[in-house]
Amino acid sequence: MRYYDKLIFELSKPGRIGFSLPHAGCPWTAAPAGACRPRQGSGGTTSVVGSEEIGEFCDSGKFSDSCDSLRGWRSRDGVLWRESKLELPEVSEPDVVRHYTNLSQMNFGVDTGFYPLGSCTMKYNPKINEEVVAQFNGLHPLQPARTVEGVKAIYDFMDKALAEITGMKHFTFLPCAGAHGELTGLMLMREYHFRRGDLARTKVIVPDSAHGTNPASAAVCGLDIVVVKSRPDGLVDVEDLKPLLGPDVAGIMMTNPNTLGLFERDIKEIAELVHACGGLLYYDGANMNPLLGVVRPGDMGFDIMHLNLHKTFSTPHGGGGPGSGPVGVAEALVPLLDVPRTSGFHGNFGIILRACAYILMLGRENIKMAGPLATLSANYIKESLKDCYKLPIQAVCKHEFVFDGLAEPNGVTTLDVAKRLLDYGFHAPTIYFPLLFHQALMVEPTETESLETLDAFIDVMRKIAQEALQDPELLHSAPHNTPIGRPDETTAARQPILKYQN
Ligand SMILES: *Cc1c(COP(=O)(O)O)cnc(C)c1O
Repeated sequence: MRYYDKLIFELSKPGRIGFSLPHAGCPWTAAPAGACRPRQGSGGTTSVVGSEEIGEFCDSGKFSDSCDSLRGWRSRDGVLWRESKLELPEVSEPDVVRHYTNLSQMNFGVDTGFYPLGSCTMKYNPKINEEVVAQFNGLHPLQPARTVEGVKAIYDFMDKALAEITGMKHFTFLPCAGAHGELTGLMLMREYHFRRGDLARTKVIVPDSAHGTNPASAAVCGLDIVVVKSRPDGLVDVEDLKPLLGPDVAGIMMTNPNTLGLFERDIKEIAELVHACGGLLYYDGANMNPLLGVVRPGDMGFDIMHLNLHKTFSTPHGGGGPGSGPVGVAEALVPLLDVPRTSGFHGNFGIILRACAYILMLGRENIKMAGPLATLSANYIKESLKDCYKLPIQAVCKHEFVFDGLAEPNGVTTLDVAKRLLDYGFHAPTIYFPLLFHQALMVEPTETESLETLDAFIDVMRKIAQEALQDPELLHSAPHNTPIGRPDETTAARQPILKYQN
């Protein structure tokens, strides 16, 4: 076992300390009575004034013995006292630094290597974004409004910038992810029809190539999902759509370019058809990257949309958060947006701020370069590999494309290829999505990678195709160089081991 595989508690040595404070020059005293009375009415964490100890109190705002989080505490005169010693690890500063630095190296991130995860736009997150956010670290959601005029200015700027980029009228910044934005947008769609007394509109049309969150959000919103088929060329089949339209249609959800990386060229006709039947168009903006600053969903005819700031606008994501999925609407829906537009608890401000830094850094002109570069990178990889990987749709793609496994699989699956890539220091592409192809392997290089990185990825993908022919077992058992090998996926899901020690 490498020493850094240990828990920080196992590195602990009694009495070892990472820092020492200068003597304050006054005697130690106990916390004054009443100093740590809970604030009334809100649950959470409060610190015990006068000592380094941290305690919790219940939602009722009162301490009580039945409160689970109060185990190990004793209440006297309304003051909480710990009964046991706080068991924090006792380690030196280098121990702490090495422990967490080494832990961070056991994971894969866009700062450690190429991350061509299709549909996720894992572009590099410029560090200037972090510096900008650091200026706002002291903000508190409850501080007086007059002290946060700058924050309001940023929300206003972002509202204007995103409206200009997308052709929408206004945005709400409350939703904290793409899927959250979809649900918000669909609720706006439903409310729009509701306020017009148009109560029969309960259906939402979703293409069979859609991201899984689209039908999931529609279901959560209580709407009925109707699937429209794609044609063999991967685009929505307009002829299949026509008979689905009628007075019961609330709207259609579309991604453009779609999840196959293909631009829906019939979007104008689709918009006219859906509007003619009284429905609205929802734009899943997760694939906005290739259109940035050039093509606007509003001009295509969309009425509601979300953006994934954590994808298109370079803010860090992965592992489930944090994200930001602002929802924009056309003029007719503006009265349905929440007010006030900014408040103390308004979305993930740190993420919105990073996106703001990114937009300002690139500016109107340079932001237009992201899409063409991402598109060039994707097509370069696609054309360089299409002799060893099956390319089901032969067309110029936008920022991403989908292979359907190896051209000569020899029993090697897309999962095997993905696992083997980790051995070579690359994150895997998205696999088994979209569902249209059984061995789907979806590559999105983004605009931030150099030609050398793309070439290195292409070399490795070709090498893996060769290995599949010569030594398929090597691939079935990959990865071989990672901290964890290949877990049994069913066992990992059904009987997850969540504790380091059993
Ligand atoms: C990522 C993605 C979503 C969901 O966004 P989250 O921020 O992960 O909730 C929806 N649609 C598409 C096409 C996506 O790529």
